[in-house]
Amino acid sequence: MFLFQLNNAVRTVSFHIKYQFSGGLVSVKPGLLYVVATPIGNLGDISLRAQQILTEVDFIAAEDTRRTRPLLQHLGISKTMIAIHEHNERQRMDDILGRIQAGESMALVSDAGTPLISDPGYHLVREARAQGIIVSPVPGASALVAALSVSGLPTDHFRFEGFLPPKRSARKARLLELLHETVTLVFYESSHRIIETVDDMCEILGNDREAILARELTKMYETVLGPNLADIHTALQVDANQSRGEFVLVVRGAEKSASDNDTAQADRLLQLLLAEMSVKSATRVVSAYMELPKNEIYRRALQLQQENDN
Ligand code: SAM
Repeated sequence: MFLFQLNNAVRTVSFHIKYQFSGGLVSVKPGLLYVVATPIGNLGDISLRAQQILTEVDFIAAEDTRRTRPLLQHLGISKTMIAIHEHNERQRMDDILGRIQAGESMALVSDAGTPLISDPGYHLVREARAQGIIVSPVPGASALVAALSVSGLPTDHFRFEGFLPPKRSARKARLLELLHETVTLVFYESSHRIIETVDDMCEILGNDREAILARELTKMYETVLGPNLADIHTALQVDANQSRGEFVLVVRGAEKSASDNDTAQADRLLQLLLAEMSVKSATRVVSAYMELPKNEIYRRALQLQQENDN
């Protein structure tokens, strides 16, 4: 019994020490700008640290105070708020940064998710850093990362495109520019345009391009559709509910095709490997190592094998 209590006491002390040393629940510092992530749906996703910072700062700058107030009420926080959105960010900047320079601490929040990710705050953060103010992140939810994490598509490299242009001609032009992009593509989209955007993606990127449509993540009607653009298109046509809510589209990048440099390097590797192993094995190694399509490498390996045999 005594040993059990002692173990627990040691565990509690070491937890507190680790927590403090790792920057855990420490008090808000004066003269700092905190960039605080809030939930993208499920209020349970607010972090302990975000709650503490929002409780302790002198004031909060919110994209839309009417959207942030219910969250603060849910957390039992009553705090002075000012609105800062894309139309007034630059005008409000001097006043806000003046208060922080004078020693007040402030939290910047957006309507949902991480501020500055397709949300206001860029000009404020840039100017704060230019003035030598410490800008400290309080990380949490972002729809971009949440969707990527469940997409089953490559996440080692990706390109965040945010919202495509609202006008159809400009949207198609942007998709054409992205046609040969080989890394995973991530887009935000609203319910007003999701059907048109998926139509355009099918037309330009191709029906069979692997993709997922992540809808209403962390909320009651969370849905993840896939596995390609044609399937997403069909699901949107047959069920009107699937085009309601908020969306992230994650689309596989284009197949990498071999450049002249790649071809020369693949040839050298294939020649070395063909002396030691079968065409199939050499193909597997070279396509995996160079991240090039297996069929292209296989054709080239057969060609080289034939030339070697003659
Ligand atoms: N700052 C936010 C973030 O970190 O994700 C994004 C803000 S942006 C104005 C809003 C867009 O994010 C929505 O139109 C939608 O594309 C995406 N989004 C936000 N919440 C989402 C959710 N719960 N499920 C799917 N997409 C969401």
